[in-house]
Amino acid sequence: MEHTIAAISTSIGEAGIGIVRMTGRDAIAIGEQAFHPIREHRVGEKDHRVLLYGHILDEDQVIDEVLIAFMFAPHTYTREDMVEIYTHGSTVSVKKVLELLLKLGAQVAERGEFTKRAFLNGRLDLSQAEAVIDLIQAKTERSYNQSLYQLNGGLKHEVQVLRDGLMRQLAYVEVAINFSEDGQEELSTEKLQEGLRGLIGQIQSLLDTTNKGKILRDGVNTIIIGKPNVGKSSLLNLLLREERAIVTDVPGTTRDVIEEFINIREVAIRLVDTAGIRDTQDQVEKIGVERSVELSKKADLIVAVFDISKPLDEEDQQIIELIKGKKAIVLLNKIDLGSAIVPEEFSKLLGDVKIIETSMNHEIGIHELEEAIVELFYLGDIHSDAGIVISNARHEDLLNKSLSALESAYGDLIAQVPLDCLEVDLRDAWTKLGEITGETATTEDLLDKIFGEFCIGK
Ligand code: GDP
Repeated sequence: MEHTIAAISTSIGEAGIGIVRMTGRDAIAIGEQAFHPIREHRVGEKDHRVLLYGHILDEDQVIDEVLIAFMFAPHTYTREDMVEIYTHGSTVSVKKVLELLLKLGAQVAERGEFTKRAFLNGRLDLSQAEAVIDLIQAKTERSYNQSLYQLNGGLKHEVQVLRDGLMRQLAYVEVAINFSEDGQEELSTEKLQEGLRGLIGQIQSLLDTTNKGKILRDGVNTIIIGKPNVGKSSLLNLLLREERAIVTDVPGTTRDVIEEFINIREVAIRLVDTAGIRDTQDQVEKIGVERSVELSKKADLIVAVFDISKPLDEEDQQIIELIKGKKAIVLLNKIDLGSAIVPEEFSKLLGDVKIIETSMNHEIGIHELEEAIVELFYLGDIHSDAGIVISNARHEDLLNKSLSALESAYGDLIAQVPLDCLEVDLRDAWTKLGEITGETATTEDLLDKIFGEFCIGK
């Protein structure tokens, strides 16, 4: 067992209860030292996962009245000894309990360190550990279900099947290499071709789910653009008011933007840089054309707002240029003020982009906008139990790499290149697949990167 670490696992703030967690070789001893049961009680393995009632004392001073659970290795989340203390939910209470545990010898846990230990001790594979963070961050029921599926080993199983299949082909090639000299075993190229084609197809169909997967996990990355005063912030406010929105400022991560999530019938819309819209009347100026261009490149959806009551001007033209060829919805706003633009002008310039006449003041066209979004992004054919969806860039990258290795092996086979070369590619593909689950070659850097995205206490 590793050294003992402790952390507050619930979010800080006023709440009914707070949970302080501890894992490692001295967890039980430190827990026992801090905890004073109401009735005399000696903690032992019989207390595994039993809630005990009593006080946390720092010497003679009562810190809180708590429930506590002692959990014994290996039947715990981390596979080490663990203790969880259920305190009153005030910030002071959880902090004081944590401080006491540190005083008694525990160390402060790093982000995701509990789950990292669960991985290192074989309780979860890497794809499952990654599902834990997705589950915590899930914004819609769909992404939640998908993460749960992955946590239950959905992807792990899929990768296992692929690796087993690959191993069979590899074994076949190796036998042929070893025996070919004395001519005892001739490789059936056709059989191998068929095997490789099957594997390539399986990986490709997994990769085909990535776009949906990303949208499922991160939401539809959306930006609202338009020149000043066309009604962008009115739109934003209307959407935020009508739909239950989740606003996150993603503390402590590398993303430097404010994000707001709106659920439109299970399509999570992630509005990026809404601060730009909120804080100033002049969004284009504030975020700058360059930044608009940059943001719109990364966006899954651009909602471009125009003032229909005025003829198009130079700035509008720039925005039209910006959305050409992109997934966009055009809103011709202020229809209540009459129209100086004919929607057909846009169709001519932009092809079959969806154009909706709206009035933010009279709440006209909002429903149509939502319909259009759902039509573009509804992930109707994704069901949590109908198969895995690739939502993680790391998994996508590794699948792509093993796909190219397999394709190269397949090419070699067709070109009748010596079998040794083929074997190298097959091994490479096998290793890359193993990296998804962490069975092969996980570096400390990679683990730091993955678990660094977790919150402390998970
Ligand atoms: P932004 O600069 O693009 O964010 O535009 P705002 O949402 O701040 O709107 C600018 C002004 O236009 C405000 O006074 C709004 O009340 C007004 N406005 C927005 N939408 C409409 C609309 O559909 N009809 C009318 N008549 N006025 C609107």
